[in-house]
Amino acid sequence: MQIIFLGTGTSHGIPCIACSCAICTSSDPKNARTRASIWIRHRHLSLLIDTSTDFRFQAIREGMTSLDAIFFTHAHADHLHGLDDIRPLCRDKTMPVYGNEATLTEIRSRFNYIFEDTQKGGGKPKIELISLGNGAVDLGDLAVQPVPIKHGSLDILGFRLGGFAYLTDCSGIPEESYKLLENLEILVIGALRDKPHETHFSVPEALAEIGRIRPERAYFTHLCHNLEHQELLSRLPPNVEPAYDGQVLDLGD
Ligand SMILES: [Zn+2]
Ligand SMILES: [Zn+2]
Ligand SMILES: [Zn+2]
Repeated sequence: MQIIFLGTGTSHGIPCIACSCAICTSSDPKNARTRASIWIRHRHLSLLIDTSTDFRFQAIREGMTSLDAIFFTHAHADHLHGLDDIRPLCRDKTMPVYGNEATLTEIRSRFNYIFEDTQKGGGKPKIELISLGNGAVDLGDLAVQPVPIKHGSLDILGFRLGGFAYLTDCSGIPEESYKLLENLEILVIGALRDKPHETHFSVPEALAEIGRIRPERAYFTHLCHNLEHQELLSRLPPNVEPAYDGQVLDLGD
């Protein structure tokens, strides 16, 4: 299984519009972060977690030519608003789109034109909304297990696939969800900034969760413009690092 970080930035993206801070003007490409999303490749399968605002650029940058399903963590704009740009990837089929009921309700409302009977042409993505419960989605070679997490007061989803788990926009992990996170090879977890935030783990909070979950390796995502890549890397434990756009992780099957 291969994980490709399509984007690792917080909702504004980095550089932020109209910001001249040292990180937004950095010449290190690892400090340029598009909106958070990952692409998962496993044998013939191609899966996406979230369609970020920057999805079109990310898919072109990484050479994505096929897509089998999309899993949504939640419906915030930075994770959802690239949905229209999946059109070239669902020309000949209907794309299965998985999310919790709250996310699917938001998709129906925000992308209402998709569900209305208007002329089709190439103008609309063809999607089928599928509500996720507690159980795993069996995709043949791979099972995708939803992991309930908190994002402020919102109930959103992380996902586990084999020895890999992805928890972005997380500010709390319910006790029952820790059981779904045992024996991980790789954990990707959101870490917004050093200071606490109402709806996202800070760096110290994310490190505390890594200490409890004990994956072999962990990567931070959904980083804001207060965190400089090399500086952050230099003060993290040896098995934890900030992810960067375009980074590829290889996992055993
Ligand atoms: Zn977000
Ligand atoms: Zn900035
Ligand atoms: Zn969010």
